[in-house]
Amino acid sequence: MAYIPTIGLEIHIEPKTKTKMFCGCANDPFKAKPNANVCPICLAHPGTLPTINKEAVEATIKLGLALNGKIADLSHFDRKSYFYPDLPKGYQISQYKSPLVEGGMLKDVRITRVHLEEDTGKLLHAKDKKSSNVDLNRAGVPLMELVTEPDIKNGKQAMEFAKELQLTLRYLRVSNADMEKGEMRVEANISISKDKKTLGTKVEIKNLNSFKIVGDAINDEIKRQEKLLGRGDKIVQETRGWDEKKQKTVSQRSKEEAHDYRYFPEPDLPELDLTDPNYIDTELLFRELPELPQAKRDRFKSEYGLNEKQADTLVAEPRAAEFYEQAVSECKTEDAKKCSSLIYNYLTSDLFGLLKEKNISFEDLKINPENFADLAALASKGELSSRMVKDILPKMAETGEDPRAIMDKEGIEQVSDEDAILKVIQKVIGENEQAVKDYKGGNENTLKFLIGQTMKELKGQGNPQRIQKILKKELS
Ligand SMILES: [Zn+2]
Repeated sequence: MAYIPTIGLEIHIEPKTKTKMFCGCANDPFKAKPNANVCPICLAHPGTLPTINKEAVEATIKLGLALNGKIADLSHFDRKSYFYPDLPKGYQISQYKSPLVEGGMLKDVRITRVHLEEDTGKLLHAKDKKSSNVDLNRAGVPLMELVTEPDIKNGKQAMEFAKELQLTLRYLRVSNADMEKGEMRVEANISISKDKKTLGTKVEIKNLNSFKIVGDAINDEIKRQEKLLGRGDKIVQETRGWDEKKQKTVSQRSKEEAHDYRYFPEPDLPELDLTDPNYIDTELLFRELPELPQAKRDRFKSEYGLNEKQADTLVAEPRAAEFYEQAVSECKTEDAKKCSSLIYNYLTSDLFGLLKEKNISFEDLKINPENFADLAALASKGELSSRMVKDILPKMAETGEDPRAIMDKEGIEQVSDEDAILKVIQKVIGENEQAVKDYKGGNENTLKFLIGQTMKELKGQGNPQRIQKILKKELS
């Protein structure tokens, strides 16, 4: 019996803002010193008044516009009451009835809504599990919550959606959305049913903190539910988590009753009028949206003749995409197509590898696109072999110099010269059988003789070190 999985995602994202959501404390939840970024407002002292962080509202609207969602005309915050030790107020300021964004679409998955709220603090549990400490550096940090419609069918699709969302946030420069740091947190609601009309019992999986885990946990949960229904058991409505060691979802708590959060409009905050350009000019934000990942992929394919996978590789790394375009525009060679294809290859294999090996980020890269294009042009003209490119590239990364300067300094000669040297060497080897025999027999001195003969043939124009290197290779 085949079951139809129905999956929806809830994704929390911390936008990168200067301050917290409702006070002037720094938005720096990773500050090493606990409880350093706190004030009477985010500690919820009586009588304090919150104010709305406009930067966070703008970030949410930018995301909404990028997703093609509808931006609310009027929006307000609500109080969501519940008790938890990491929530000093005893309530969270969130949005319930009028989220900033409704609707939208990403990777064929419909977006239900995106709203803005505040994050909670963190509980740090002692190793002996006898006590816990509270760190409120994160309490009150802005948090966007994106909810999708249950359009997702499997783990892979969920993973791809989450990746595209992360990339979109990065292109928008709204958040780095690093999952390992908890800047983006994914929860999945999963149910399976025999037909499209009836919905199965929903299970929630929380704390999916990497793309791989998103995919693995969802696929495992579908299998678990199929197995249960297959043998006639029932699915229990509950919250599960991912056990990395067991590679399975595990029960965390059952949801025996629905929470009553007693939502009501936050009385300390004004309603937001998003039609007022004096507050936020949404039309201007729309006009200023950057080119988004899918549009860039499409353009890279049509403009540079890249295939789907190549376009995807570049677009996945915004800096690399920018570098590629700048380098290609610097291709000063007759065969621009060959030059740009070499730029792609050197960038995605050699340069990516080098950055990884040396643990440097694109921002700290000393090579500029112009010099990188020169390197590709030299290779496309046949003046550099791919081996030489591999030798020169790390030196360019080290010094920031152009490839010509490095070739001169390092005595790296052109392939054409090397070919000429090789031809002469082969001639010398052919004409001096006895010397070759002696060298192979262990008489190192005959090598000098052969070098001398080669130099003579080249009328002294050759580089002795280079001749020796090629000779040794030919004789080995
Ligand atoms: Zn504060």
